[in-house]
Amino acid sequence: MSEPDCIFCKIVAGELPSQQVDEDALTVAFMDINPATRGHALVIPRRHSKDLIEIDAEDLQATVLAAQRLARTMRERLEPDGINLLNSCGPAAWQTVFHFHIHVIPRYAGDPLRLPWTPGPGDADEIAATAEQLRR
Ligand code: AMP
Ligand code: ZN
Repeated sequence: MSEPDCIFCKIVAGELPSQQVDEDALTVAFMDINPATRGHALVIPRRHSKDLIEIDAEDLQATVLAAQRLARTMRERLEPDGINLLNSCGPAAWQTVFHFHIHVIPRYAGDPLRLPWTPGPGDADEIAATAEQLRR
């Protein structure tokens, strides 16, 4: 349910301070202490899950819906030009806190954030072969 060394479990328990902005029975939302843009916040399930692979459907659904609620609040009150949701799963994907979370990042025209890859056409055979590996 809760991991003793997890900073986000401590935030849920009120043992670490946070700028909380929303909560419900299954989730808590609070401001990121290293904001990428003005208003950058995180939504987490109250119950500890390490990442996208481990989290159960109920907590995932609640966290995604809470992220949408926060995005709508941001749109009304911060009037951003756009919003990114971001989840990182695993150290290679930039995850640094191993309690599932969704970043909700308001975007402003001219802000410094950039797409982290350079879009360009892929190899068609490789795309097809990988699709074959994934297809259900
Ligand atoms: P990630 O790198 O995707 O795992 O995201 C972890 C995020 O948690 C980073 O953006 C950190 O700035 C943020 N963070 C770490 N500790 C705290 C804290 N005590 N309160 C708020 N945000 C935090
Ligand atoms: Zn935790």
